[in-house]
Amino acid sequence: MSVLIVGSVALDSVKTPLGEANNVLGGSAVYASYAASFYGPVKLVGVIGEDFPQEHIELLKSRSIDLEGLQVRKGKTFYWSGYYELDMNQAHSLCTELNVFSCFHPHIPKSYRKTKYIFLANIDPELQMEVLTQVEKPDLVVADTMNYWIMNKHDAVWKILKAVDIVLLNDAEARQLCGTANLVKAAKKVIATGPKVVIIKKGEHGSLMITDSTTFAAPAYPLETIYDPTGAGDTFAGGFIGYLAATKDLSEKNLRKAVIIGSTLASFNVEDFSLGRLIRLTQSELTERYKAFRKLVRF
Ligand code: AMP
Repeated sequence: MSVLIVGSVALDSVKTPLGEANNVLGGSAVYASYAASFYGPVKLVGVIGEDFPQEHIELLKSRSIDLEGLQVRKGKTFYWSGYYELDMNQAHSLCTELNVFSCFHPHIPKSYRKTKYIFLANIDPELQMEVLTQVEKPDLVVADTMNYWIMNKHDAVWKILKAVDIVLLNDAEARQLCGTANLVKAAKKVIATGPKVVIIKKGEHGSLMITDSTTFAAPAYPLETIYDPTGAGDTFAGGFIGYLAATKDLSEKNLRKAVIIGSTLASFNVEDFSLGRLIRLTQSELTERYKAFRKLVRF
């Protein structure tokens, strides 16, 4: 079963304590689509400018990512630059240039509208809402956001989160959005407005999946060296929804497995800049690390 993913398609410049990469492929929809493509077909919705390198298009096509919903507009591609200090759980944005995104409206091609699994990756929450008005009765809608939108479009963020089934937030965003330091309270506040599940990502400290009656705590896979955490959250989300679409099972047990699949993929993504490690990742490496992950949490 395919997954529809809408989000940013970007050129990023990133600096971490272990190096830097300039004008490389990034964007929430790119990381999520690439990760989801390990489990099945993906339909991507986004926008790029005329400066977007053709080799990136070829890369996405090589993964069976359908690009009918990717608009090409006059102007420059969305550009984000940021850096990380020794605590790589916190991204510091230096610049966010919306460029072609500033006048973008998602158009969902006819062939996408019946897609049952939808991931609204991090973009303007008003655009996320425009996607929901164009699709027909999905089985599952997962949404992500970030501090930039919580700060600049607070009401629109709440409106979209209320309309989806599963909300993904990182710990700082959950605190900022809900005005509480306590992550369980923050998740419950979101659940009270509509979504059935909230997943709070805590970087190297793993994630918490909270429903109105259950809590699941997953660690992050312990790595000795992290090169660049950019896109870890999107990679997690892509693996999570890709696996759910492939198995068509939304039970609590399978959601927990999807969290571990997402965490496994994210653990690879941070081992290189941009999509470098995901591009080199083989199915057998993925299976091996998933097995190692299971051992890690067994007691
Ligand atoms: P993550 O590290 O998973 O939170 O996401 C990193 C990606 O988000 C980068 O590749 C950026 O291009 C993209 N990004 C950064 N800021 C924004 C924004 N305001 N809206 C949409 N995407 C963004």
